Amino acid sequence: MTERIPFNWPHMTGKELYYIAESHFNGRLAGDGPFTRRCHQWIEARAGCSKALLTHSCTAALEMAALLMDIQPGDEIIMPSYTFVSTANAFVLRGGVPVFVDIRADTLNLDESLIEAAITPRTRGIAVVHYAGVACEMDAVMDIAKRHGLVVVEDAAQGVMASYKGRALGSLGHLGTYSFHETKNVISGEGGALLVNDPALAERAEVIREKGTNRSRFFRGEVDKYTWQEVGSSFLPGELVAAFLWAQLEEAERITQMRLDAWNRYHGLLEPLESSRQLRRPTVPAGCRHNAHMYYVLIQPEIDRQKVLDALKLAGISAVFHYVPLHSSPAGRRYGRTHGALDVTDRQSECLVRLPLWVGLSPEKQELVVQVLADAISAQS
Ligand SMILES: *Cc1c(COP(=O)(O)O)cnc(C)c1O
Repeated sequence: MTERIPFNWPHMTGKELYYIAESHFNGRLAGDGPFTRRCHQWIEARAGCSKALLTHSCTAALEMAALLMDIQPGDEIIMPSYTFVSTANAFVLRGGVPVFVDIRADTLNLDESLIEAAITPRTRGIAVVHYAGVACEMDAVMDIAKRHGLVVVEDAAQGVMASYKGRALGSLGHLGTYSFHETKNVISGEGGALLVNDPALAERAEVIREKGTNRSRFFRGEVDKYTWQEVGSSFLPGELVAAFLWAQLEEAERITQMRLDAWNRYHGLLEPLESSRQLRRPTVPAGCRHNAHMYYVLIQPEIDRQKVLDALKLAGISAVFHYVPLHSSPAGRRYGRTHGALDVTDRQSECLVRLPLWVGLSPEKQELVVQVLADAISAQS
């Protein structure tokens, strides 16, 4: 019986409980305490955004983005269909309409050449998703947005520590969102952040996050009482979560490097299979520095993916497919619409297999994964 290889295994740095104990000892449990501030400063310094705000999740940060954009019923947001539900849900909650556009065959990111044709008088924004921590073509996206007066939200849930032309993902659009969910690179169980890059939105972001009040300004001594200013909610995590996250952010560089080592090992091991056209490896365009969030392969459409996953499972290896495209889901059909054919989305989403990737995954285990994958593909060729 071979040892089981899980798809993901959360990496702990060792200091998480130490920092949580510090919060416990100091009696600081509510949000926006010393650990939250440290996390904010780290993100602001690292990403170069005007303001970083921790949230309960990337989902919550996306919901804040929709509130900040003041999305009204019928407003349209252009986005990929090949993404997590939260990208769309956040806008649908405000009555917005996701307009799904096809992705690029190489990076599986929103195809920037298709955005402009999808713009209507109701279009308010573009939500880009940096799949697997590989950047979208942001120069082109920002140029389109500028010419049409649109807001760009980067769903950089998978993009912490990755960059585009030297600039951090999440810092390129008007707003960016991070996830610190257990399955991401830098984690706090559930957790996220909103990155406000447009300084004009910074103050309102604080208000929306604090139940629609100017409580943050009150605590800074800028106003003598705090009151209800606009629609908001409670989007801030408590200090225990921030304390955990701080232990992770301190080690973010090392975590990323260890993941990159494993990613590069897969990339080398799988090169022969790409050369013999049995599968395609991920593409990282020039100018993009990824963060090894994910290693996926695209198998040939003739190969039965379920059989490949079953063969891996039989060998104790947990490999998985990814998004069911939103335009083909019940809620996606009800609340959104497509613009143009989504052929690449439909084709690639059926061929994608994600391999186990986590800090501590041994070279031997990676070799086994590649061996079993290769055999499973050959058995069908
Ligand atoms: C993980 C993920 C989310 C959701 O993040 P949470 O922190 O779990 O809310 C949103 N979008 C993308 C692209 C993701 O990968």
